[in-house]
Amino acid sequence: MLKLIHRVECSPALAACQQLIRTFSLWLCNPGTTAANLTQADLQPPVLPSAIEADWLWAFLQRIDVGRQLLDHARQLASMPIAEKAALMGWVQSVSALGAQFQPAPTAWPVTCPLATGTNWGAFKTLIEAFYEKGFRAGLPYLPDGTPIAAGGVTYANFVDTFRFAHRLSNDPNARQVCVLCSGPLGDTPHVDHWVTKSAFPLLSVCQDNLTVICSTCNEAPNKGNKPVHSAGNFADWFHPYLRPANGVLQLDYDSHAATVRCSAIGSDDHPKAANLDGLLNLAARWTREFKAEYAKHQDILRRSESRRVKEAQARHTLTELIAYVQHWSTALSPTEPHHEVHDLLGRSILEPERAQAWLEELATVQ
Ligand SMILES: [Zn+2]
Repeated sequence: MLKLIHRVECSPALAACQQLIRTFSLWLCNPGTTAANLTQADLQPPVLPSAIEADWLWAFLQRIDVGRQLLDHARQLASMPIAEKAALMGWVQSVSALGAQFQPAPTAWPVTCPLATGTNWGAFKTLIEAFYEKGFRAGLPYLPDGTPIAAGGVTYANFVDTFRFAHRLSNDPNARQVCVLCSGPLGDTPHVDHWVTKSAFPLLSVCQDNLTVICSTCNEAPNKGNKPVHSAGNFADWFHPYLRPANGVLQLDYDSHAATVRCSAIGSDDHPKAANLDGLLNLAARWTREFKAEYAKHQDILRRSESRRVKEAQARHTLTELIAYVQHWSTALSPTEPHHEVHDLLGRSILEPERAQAWLEELATVQ
């Protein structure tokens, strides 16, 4: 989260879909809704805001997932006992108000499954995740600005492309792209991450504030994986990509005693958030590996140069030459390249007098 993360041009389409999911879920939980009400006619306004959304949802419900039509999953939910409907309704209202968790005095965030009947939760999870897995991939019923449209709406691929384009650091299309979370390379196979995991909170599977495009290393275990981004339902000590950003708040520094890069916050109030983010993504360990790898690269360049000088009976590197070498590459570092912050820290660390002297002494042993 070193980089600024912001909503993109098609974010309103995701917000509109999130509202559609919320409205449909709450309608299913309404005591007056029965399985018999799940018809194309019954989904029309005022149940859903527009005929376009109602018709899209009806077509979506005809799709098959986990061996059953999505319509069957929805009928199962509409047939739940009143108590389970009420529990799920409360859960939907709390989870869809995610933004409130980042305001003063937030209400309790649900940390347990709202439904006692496992098969009902399974039906809900399958149905709602399908909005992401099937609906989003094929196309939502919305233009990028959230206006309903019968065909040609925003797709998963549109979102990935739009997010990547909006968060590129260089205008050159051939430039390497940077991961907004770790500042490393975004790579050839970036992932769409659900900040709040969709396995536990499927309601946020298409939420504009819950989706980012990040590198596969950040997204996979032992890094983010399916870890929670709150402490037992409390978001107070956590950053959030959109709702409590960390860019400009996080800092890197080098602990020469421990020989590690540390991830911390500039202000003491944010220290717990920086520690949680580090625990989530293992940033310090990953940045330390990059720091040492880059150091090893420059060490190798200078060793080979020193070796050539020895073979050609030239004078060995002086401290002034070594410092000039580091200053040269350090000044040339581009902020649009992956790991800029780590490489910049390395340059500053080597230029500390003790470290530069130690490097020179190490070079003097090269034959
Ligand atoms: Zn990353």
